[in-house]
Amino acid sequence: MKFKARLWDSLEDNKVKCHVCANECVILPEKVGICRTRKNFDGELYTLIYGSMISSGSLDPIEKKPLYNFWPGATAYSIASIGCSFKCQNCQNWNISQANPTNNGKNGFYSLEGLENRKMSLIEMTPEQLVENVKKSGATTLAYTYNEPLIWHEWILDTTVLLKQENIKTILVTNGYSTIEATKELIEVGIDAANIDIKSMSDEFYKTICGVKSVQPVLDTAKRFKSNGIHVEITNLIIPDLNDSNAEIEKLTNWIVENLGVDTPTHFSAYHPDFMQPSMKRTPFETLDNAYKIAMRAGINYVYVGNTRHKKGGNTYCPNCNHLIIGRSGYRFTKIDITDTKHCPKCQYDLSKDIKGEINRKASQRFSFF
Ligand code: SF4
Ligand code: SF4
Repeated sequence: MKFKARLWDSLEDNKVKCHVCANECVILPEKVGICRTRKNFDGELYTLIYGSMISSGSLDPIEKKPLYNFWPGATAYSIASIGCSFKCQNCQNWNISQANPTNNGKNGFYSLEGLENRKMSLIEMTPEQLVENVKKSGATTLAYTYNEPLIWHEWILDTTVLLKQENIKTILVTNGYSTIEATKELIEVGIDAANIDIKSMSDEFYKTICGVKSVQPVLDTAKRFKSNGIHVEITNLIIPDLNDSNAEIEKLTNWIVENLGVDTPTHFSAYHPDFMQPSMKRTPFETLDNAYKIAMRAGINYVYVGNTRHKKGGNTYCPNCNHLIIGRSGYRFTKIDITDTKHCPKCQYDLSKDIKGEINRKASQRFSFF
């Protein structure tokens, strides 16, 4: 749905500059930005995807986002639109992240070869209709996921206001490539939690694999979110031969400790070849186990391993005495051992500042509409 955009400047010759993400595209008249979802109409910038989504939503366990220390066991009503500020060669959702809205048409300002005119029909709804759907589903959280939510800025602001009135938490699963202006608006509206993907600590990786200039905006967003009270978890997808060295993992985990704190849940995730396949290999178990150990040595209290079976990597342990607080097998709980006041039953360590919200002891089941 076409909707007047926020956060842009007029330039000479009817050009505009968008500040919704750190690409900060300068967009010529009748052209779109890198995400292909913001278009310059006669010197004014519009989003083409306000209220436009690929389906009415699906119900996921919150652990699938992944968020392990935020409302454990909650159901996340998950929705997605199309487009992305990145063009990662390993994208597992490339069919939606690299698509164009149907009313966008041809002449993408910047598109992947062969996908320039790949259009996708979307369903549309108002913020009120979305909130009604979430309420009917019984979900206590809403996750913007699958494609990049930051480019859905105006829609996220408007829906978060309404979701707050219903005490439904808003979650972003994001590449973190935000600007100071956009981050400020997201913090002010009250985003509750974010899983931020730090793909690498190297600008070279971001340039060659993701097609953007630098990791720095991602790190800045993580710091701003965390210091303003948003619950932040970090994901790092480990791709063989590209970002799997000890030096790279140490740099990432040391940065997390120094800038976000040891209480920041950190997820290492296994890669499997997809889209343009920057590596032909799946991530070996030993690489993930090695990353787990490096993060533990760096002092991170909540280290997780995803997309593979790891003896400890799905569990939450007490950082003080190592007692098993929440055991998981996939998205299923195998054990929950924490007091009602969120203290460790063994050493009385206070876990309430690290594990946010209520724990749903039954845990949710995935039910997809996609
Ligand atoms: S949101 Fe889209 S148009 Fe705006 S700066 Fe980012 S990629 Fe460019
Ligand atoms: S940031 Fe995520 S959605 Fe966007 S292209 Fe990369 S992997 Fe795909």
